[in-house]
Amino acid sequence: MRKITQVNPYINECELSLIENTINDRWLTEGQYTQKLLDEFIALTNAKFALPVPNGTLGLYIGLLSLNLPKGSEVLVPSFTFFGSVSSIHFAGLIPRFVDVDLTDYMASADSFRSAITPNTSAIMPIHIYGASADMDPILDLATEKGLKVIEDAAQAVGVFYKDKHCGTFGDVGVFSFFADKTITMGEGGIIITDDEVLYNRLKLIRNQGRPNSGTFIHPEFGMNFRITDLQAAIGVAQLEKLEKVKQYKTSLFQMYSDRLLNTDYIKVMQPKEYSNYVPFRYAFTSPIKEEIQLALSTNEIQTRDFFYPMHLQPAVQALYPSINKASFPNSETLNEQGLCLPMHLGITESDVTFICDVINQLR
Ligand SMILES: *Cc1c(COP(=O)(O)O)cnc(C)c1O
Repeated sequence: MRKITQVNPYINECELSLIENTINDRWLTEGQYTQKLLDEFIALTNAKFALPVPNGTLGLYIGLLSLNLPKGSEVLVPSFTFFGSVSSIHFAGLIPRFVDVDLTDYMASADSFRSAITPNTSAIMPIHIYGASADMDPILDLATEKGLKVIEDAAQAVGVFYKDKHCGTFGDVGVFSFFADKTITMGEGGIIITDDEVLYNRLKLIRNQGRPNSGTFIHPEFGMNFRITDLQAAIGVAQLEKLEKVKQYKTSLFQMYSDRLLNTDYIKVMQPKEYSNYVPFRYAFTSPIKEEIQLALSTNEIQTRDFFYPMHLQPAVQALYPSINKASFPNSETLNEQGLCLPMHLGITESDVTFICDVINQLR
């Protein structure tokens, strides 16, 4: 039986030939490919400024640092996200305050952010989940009304647009990830974007030893090393060229799955809202018989992926913040209990989809 894996990066001789150039040029740290990656990312997103970061989590971390939020103030964040959103808040000396999400698109609305605001709240972190956009206009209105900063976790939102503007360009800063299982990948890596020159200059100092440019030993500020390598960036440049193809292929896989599963009444597929395009991250759905489906698929060598475990229930969070966020977040918990992702990558064929759906439909 052929094993169908969850993740299978779409890498080949395109990446290899650019990596070869970096080796031949004898330039391994940030160089021509890093610059090209940033230029092309700016062209894609229409952001004013972009900087590379070692990964999405560290991008969120220095994004938060650049906002100069009061230490110990609260950042509103959906309970349904990857843990990196929350650990970046923690390590930036801030406190996560959770909000629940919607059961159709798995994202937090402006209303749920609003109901969580306290006098100690300083920022909102909307999460663009599974390849669709959060509802940014009302979130921005809320932030303006309450004087809150906005940092967009766009780790899963490369190629995702809200109305006709790219995700990550709405907040004060936006952060993307190129981890191995994201829409496009450099193995590890990320990009942080902003339209604010003051934040951009602060971020440059934070990420490169407190100096505006490499090659000088005068350090006006304290900063750390959040640089990447040009080998990574070379992979990123090759991957960005494939973005349209990846989007198209994933969209067609999504359609194939839906055609075969949607007359199955025990499956409720994720539904992005009309203001968002959709670059399906995986085939994400909820089902009351999730465990049965998962077992049947794994018996057939088909890997599935659970949804996130809610942030407010994380052992690390519970140990540190016993007094805040005692409230439950029922939708986030339901998604964890009933959510399942089917494989969605360029190594999946139409006959794979048919096979996977046959296994599921036989459970009826
Ligand atoms: C992947 C991801 C991150 C973290 O990115 P890394 O590059 O893995 O550090 C943060 N938030 C969300 C929603 C993610 O999916």
